[in-house]
Amino acid sequence: MTVPSRATTHAVVVGRVRIGGGAPVVVQSMTSTDTADVAATVRQCHELALAGSELVRITVNLPEAAAAVPEIRRRLDDLGCDVPLIGDFHYNGHLLLTEYPGCAAALAKYRINPGNVGFGRRRDEQFATICRIAVERGKPVRIGVNAGSLDQELVMAKMQENTDRALGKSAEEIYADCMVLSALQSTEAALACGLGEEQIVISCKVSRPPELISVYRELARRTRQPLHLGLTEAGMGIKGIAWSASAMAVLLAEGIGDTIRVSLTPRPGGDRREEVYAACEILQALGIRSFAPSVTACPGCGRTTSTTFQELAMRVQEHVRERLPEWKRTREGVEELQLAVMGCVVNGPGESKMANIGISLPGTGEAPTCPVYVDGQKFATLTGGYEELAARLIAIIEDYVATRYPER
Ligand code: SF4
Repeated sequence: MTVPSRATTHAVVVGRVRIGGGAPVVVQSMTSTDTADVAATVRQCHELALAGSELVRITVNLPEAAAAVPEIRRRLDDLGCDVPLIGDFHYNGHLLLTEYPGCAAALAKYRINPGNVGFGRRRDEQFATICRIAVERGKPVRIGVNAGSLDQELVMAKMQENTDRALGKSAEEIYADCMVLSALQSTEAALACGLGEEQIVISCKVSRPPELISVYRELARRTRQPLHLGLTEAGMGIKGIAWSASAMAVLLAEGIGDTIRVSLTPRPGGDRREEVYAACEILQALGIRSFAPSVTACPGCGRTTSTTFQELAMRVQEHVRERLPEWKRTREGVEELQLAVMGCVVNGPGESKMANIGISLPGTGEAPTCPVYVDGQKFATLTGGYEELAARLIAIIEDYVATRYPER
């Protein structure tokens, strides 16, 4: 599939990361910790960055959170983690950025939600205050419109216009129009405050894929600002991933979207990195970027004799995730590695030969041997129980990475 160029958007630089202007689509995520809890926030930012998040957003909602930001930045730097931090502001961003200059300095970008800046004249003043600080400090901003917090004055005005002029638009259409309008008007206001086009990213997040697709198509038609793409409140687990991927894949394949976030609701105590893995997989599935070796595994069926093949696929996937930070640091091109773990002879040898390393496990009635293919050639035949198979396969993978990918 040929993905259209994103080169037509302005380039916005966030710390060391470039968004738009033809740069690779950037993966970002957001912490779920209390920002005032420095240790927990540093730990999660570091984990998200190691998992592949190229930007990390943290909520800055209270004075305690704003006061913690410089120390969070310092500790991440001490860990050798230079991931740019984005401050998520609602209601009091103008105050926190003014009263905590260390916070304003440590953040690489400020997120402004035009629906949550204030009301009436004070909204304009408070919005202008955040923009002025961004101008003074040379920081970019994201104008982040959200369906759940859309400027209600704008919605009421457009509803009234729909009635007065008998436009016949549905409430959904009016909301979509208002989101785009809010983003574009806020961008104009930010430009009038002195921000440059190379300092503004836009997002308009909704929670349903068809609406997200139409809103972003309209945005892409009407602005050259880089677009932050994401389905908001996507939900939990499979539903959140499927809905996010459905919407984002359509847009990304049309060349729309310069940075993405997958907003998953984790299980209590769940792993926040799942949203990063999902975002990377979406981009990798579309052939837009490569982040990690891919593990192809068949779904299993009535021919699968035991759970060995699922366990082996899981072990290989976990091993790749565990080793990836080190591999990426030391081995050039390892992201392109393709692995296959297959359940029987029907598709096993074929898929295994197409991967760099593939193993085909025995299905029902097959001899209890596991041929391993390396770059399309039969390399070994493994036998034995799960632990032995896993250890030998992982040794083959490690050896392949060490010998085929040059040291950086
Ligand atoms: S490769 Fe074999 S075990 Fe896997 S899904 Fe296909 S037929 Fe079933």
